[in-house]
Amino acid sequence: MSDLGGSSRVERALERVRNPLGYGAVDRALVVSSIGLIVVVLFSLLASTLGGWPYLPENADPFLREVVARASRWLAVPWLAVAVYGFRMRTRPSRVGSIALVYATCQLYALTIAGYAYLSGPFSSPPWIAFLGGAMVGFILFDKRPTLAGIATYAGVVGAATVGVQLGWIPNAAHLAGADHLDVAGSWRLGLLSVLFSTLTLGLVVNLVSHWRDRERRLEELAKTDPLTCLYNRRFFMELFERELEKARRYNQPLSCVMVDLDHFKQINDRHGHLAGDQVLVSAARAMKAGVRTTDLLARYGGEEFVIVLPLTDAAGAQELAERCRRLILDSPVIHDKATIRVTASMGVATFPRDGVQTVDDLLSLADEALYRAKAAGRDRIAFAS
Ligand code: GH3
Ligand code: MG
Ligand code: MG
Repeated sequence: MSDLGGSSRVERALERVRNPLGYGAVDRALVVSSIGLIVVVLFSLLASTLGGWPYLPENADPFLREVVARASRWLAVPWLAVAVYGFRMRTRPSRVGSIALVYATCQLYALTIAGYAYLSGPFSSPPWIAFLGGAMVGFILFDKRPTLAGIATYAGVVGAATVGVQLGWIPNAAHLAGADHLDVAGSWRLGLLSVLFSTLTLGLVVNLVSHWRDRERRLEELAKTDPLTCLYNRRFFMELFERELEKARRYNQPLSCVMVDLDHFKQINDRHGHLAGDQVLVSAARAMKAGVRTTDLLARYGGEEFVIVLPLTDAAGAQELAERCRRLILDSPVIHDKATIRVTASMGVATFPRDGVQTVDDLLSLADEALYRAKAAGRDRIAFAS
């Protein structure tokens, strides 16, 4: 079984595809909040060096200059808080904390962009680029929900500001900046068009991201399962098995392993054809799937060989389950070309802990030996490691 070495490759390869930097959700939120903090601090430094917001024209309203200078300085505070919280989550991780961190990052990003949109006009290109880019990156880095929540906040704030400007409740920042050409917030028609346009664009972003996620799911399926039976493939199974054995060892719990081999399977192929053989394999897999518990691991180990790992199960429990699976296979005939094909299975059971069993290979060899004896004793039966 030396060809099975390095069995965590599947998981690692998948993780690399899913998460190229190898960062968890907290790390990703931390990167975004650090970037946010750096940008805000940089702009606030620029603003104080230049004596005002760098992009405000000379003739901008002094009131606006003051507001912007203050806002840009104070904006660093929530970004700093989120970044500090992110560092805390790294050293003392918690599930709720990391969810809160991701939501806070998305919300803060949305609010920052919304503030920027108010200043430079919601229809000028920079906020649009930041908004669409942020949405796309958010969907890729984080889950759908925190990103959508951020988008909702952005739309809400920009919408409220547009209405506020319309009704004269708040000053139009573009006017105060002396930039009349940015006065698009003054037009209801443009406001409506913008909502329509952003909805359409968001639809495209969501569509793109769901295709991306679908592809990821398909890739994952391909890497982990056997295409014929849809059970775990041998490589991925070995990875899970190693983890289960490690748990059993650490918590001092029993674990059983059942090797299953269909009897006289070659004859089925010879008599009914390879296609019928395939159908029998699928039917046996389905039968066993119905027999095992959700916490058990069931895999296609080779051609017509399967393996079941039963965590927290001693030899007596394994016998019960193996017997149930044996009966289920027996009771699942396949009809092919009007012929009823029945198949039986032989099984070998080995249970951990046991003297001399250190690795999954040790346990599999013992189960294999038992399986050999079940075959020798006449097939359609279960044998135990002696
Ligand atoms: P035994 O009772 O001793 O296990 O006999 P057997 O005929 O089941 O065992 P043997 O190892 O001689 O034959 C296994 C056969 O399974 C040979 C191989 O062609 C067939 N097989 C392996 N993979 C597949 C598959 O994916 N589809 C089909 N149809 N047959 C397969
Ligand atoms: Mg075989
Ligand atoms: Mg066989």
